[in-house]
Amino acid sequence: LAKKEGRSTYRYHTEALSIAANERLVMETRLRHALTAGEFVLHYQPLIDAHSGRAVGVEALVRWQPPGEAIVPPGKFIPIAEETGLIVPLGEWVLRTACAQGRAWIDAGFAPLVMAVNLSVRQFQSENLAEVIQRVLEETKLPAACLELELTESMFMEHAERSIDTLKTLKAPGIQLAIDDFGTGYSSLTYLKRFPIDKLKIDQSFVRGLAHDPNDREIAATIIAMARGLKLSVLAEGVESEQQLAFLRQHGCDYYQGFLFHRPAPAKELEAWLREHSAQP
Ligand code: C2E
Ligand code: MG
Ligand code: MG
Ligand code: MG
Repeated sequence: LAKKEGRSTYRYHTEALSIAANERLVMETRLRHALTAGEFVLHYQPLIDAHSGRAVGVEALVRWQPPGEAIVPPGKFIPIAEETGLIVPLGEWVLRTACAQGRAWIDAGFAPLVMAVNLSVRQFQSENLAEVIQRVLEETKLPAACLELELTESMFMEHAERSIDTLKTLKAPGIQLAIDDFGTGYSSLTYLKRFPIDKLKIDQSFVRGLAHDPNDREIAATIIAMARGLKLSVLAEGVESEQQLAFLRQHGCDYYQGFLFHRPAPAKELEAWLREHSAQP
């Protein structure tokens, strides 16, 4: 009996696995189609300067809009795009679209905004990343100083020396570099003093508990103090409440991002708000 059960359990697992594998294959095919069919869209979420209270930038966040279906958040397809390598062309599309939007806002007379773009591990590892970025900046005519790249700690885990070289190359034309989801990765803190980084983005998991969790308060306060000591700027992600904001303000956080200010939204929907809330040109 045990043997029989063992075998059926095994069969159950392989069936489950092949269903999962099949779903992934279907998803991969759909994503490839989505890229050529133009089904991806970018939403933009304001980045707020703590001193002026004004928007000084936006983060570009990709979404998938299959025709006639609900919009799909990036958590549902970025991991598959990353595994299949589709993230490289998708990431380039994101970069070009975001930079073109940044340029369009300059041309339309908006106050200067930094355009923050997320990079994936695969993109960061690709040989020609710096050239792709350079080409996109030339094509879209967005000044390099208006582009900020968001990286994650996991990108630096392997090949630290090579990562430093990559970062220096990326930074050379004046692009700014931020560490996204700071505090959730496994990297050693030594990279903070050795890597040419401009900004830390405190992960929203620490911001969430600011009103009530003493540990989150301690972690957020420590990251802000450390950033100041290292002369890095620091942004808090996922700011949703006035209490969280009060804590961050009291501790000298430089920038905020979160639903309290604005949700990620299509460019057109954001424009009226940006006219009211961005710095004077
Ligand atoms: P992220 O880069 O850390 O982006 C911030 C996420 O937090 C976004 O989720 C945003 O909608 C959400 N958020 C902002 N304010 C709040 C808030 O007040 N409360 C809460 N609960 N959430 C808030 P989203 O758009 O679903 O993106 C999730 C992740 O997907 C991003 O995290 C990023 O890692 C990845 N992603 C998004 N767009 C791209 C992209 O173009 N390329 C790559 N490689 N990854 C991307
Ligand atoms: Mg980000
Ligand atoms: Mg983040
Ligand atoms: Mg995050």
